[in-house]
Amino acid sequence: MAKRDYYEILGIQKNASKEEMKKAYRKLAMQYHPDRNPDNKEAEEKFKEAAEAYEILSDDEKRSRYDRFGHDGVKGNAYGSPGFTDINDIFSHFSDIFGGGSIFDDFFGGGQRSRGRRQGTGVPGSDLRVNLKLTLEEIASGVSKKIKIKKQVKCSQCGGTGANAGTSTKTCPVCHGSGEVKTVSRSVFGQFVNITPCSNCNGEGSVIDEPCKKCMGDGRVNDEATININVPPGVHDGSYMTLRGEGNSGKRGGQPGDIIVVFQEIPHEYFMREGDDIIYDLFISFPTAVIGAEVEVPTLNGKAILKIDGGTQPGKLLKMRDKGIKHLNQSGHGDQLVRVNIEIPKKVTSKEKELLKELSEMQSFKKSSNSDDKNFFKRFNF
Ligand SMILES: [Zn+2]
Ligand SMILES: [Zn+2]
Repeated sequence: MAKRDYYEILGIQKNASKEEMKKAYRKLAMQYHPDRNPDNKEAEEKFKEAAEAYEILSDDEKRSRYDRFGHDGVKGNAYGSPGFTDINDIFSHFSDIFGGGSIFDDFFGGGQRSRGRRQGTGVPGSDLRVNLKLTLEEIASGVSKKIKIKKQVKCSQCGGTGANAGTSTKTCPVCHGSGEVKTVSRSVFGQFVNITPCSNCNGEGSVIDEPCKKCMGDGRVNDEATININVPPGVHDGSYMTLRGEGNSGKRGGQPGDIIVVFQEIPHEYFMREGDDIIYDLFISFPTAVIGAEVEVPTLNGKAILKIDGGTQPGKLLKMRDKGIKHLNQSGHGDQLVRVNIEIPKKVTSKEKELLKELSEMQSFKKSSNSDDKNFFKRFNF
């Protein structure tokens, strides 16, 4: 199916400002938000489509690539396939729009955006963001990494309940477990019912008789954890993966948050990445270009021999098939493209100079083909 134009999706002009774009996206996201359109596939698709358009256009670099090359210029930017597959990824991705005290909380009366994911008692833990630097070699074949991270973990003494051993949590006597308190106020305009979080239990619905001494009733403590990250081959700079439930522990048994791992590509000493292809600049001498040779070139996994044909022109791209980066989530590899550069020595010895002079008088080097052309000078009105 052909993709729709990102500007069209957001309903904005090509020269729209970031603020206009944000506004337009916010409006669409509200309209098609999954909580407002339960079990509506079409709305969900529209929601994802808008998120993808915003993901690209809100990033100056991606936007300029999109403006120049269209959808081809920004293929495979989001993790996995282009576009979002998981609604929760969208929320975690645009934290500036959805994050902390999100507009949806205001809009839908609080807490609904996490429905289905964050259930149970207690308060959910927060997400953690980790930047993971990767070399091109690691990206090319995938890598498994262990990292140490500071995070809140479940308190071992109380098992996360926050209650001291032998005591337990009990239903809050003020709100009777609902976590909410209703107050009714009357005014000349009529009767107002106000619903506010219960202050006795902080909206949790339960209270602790005797708080755990280790975690002070929080149910979690600060600690360091070792996290295993399996990076699939072919990830891009700036793309990310979500480790569900590996973030901060929830308060008093609440659902844990996630870890969002953002990949960063370390620039390579020799190679430039172009999608899943890598480009290598090879420098050969003038005689090598003329006569041809077999030269050694670095690849992402060791050295390889490359054949240079006699008469190779500068700037020529030689393709080393499948020596590039493995495609993400599909079979096959990109290629290594070797760009041929001819190195001209800045200094030569007098002997070399003699030989070159002699050479320049010989058949193949005597004249440039342009000046051979009788019409050449005419064309330029000499
Ligand atoms: Zn504890
Ligand atoms: Zn209460």
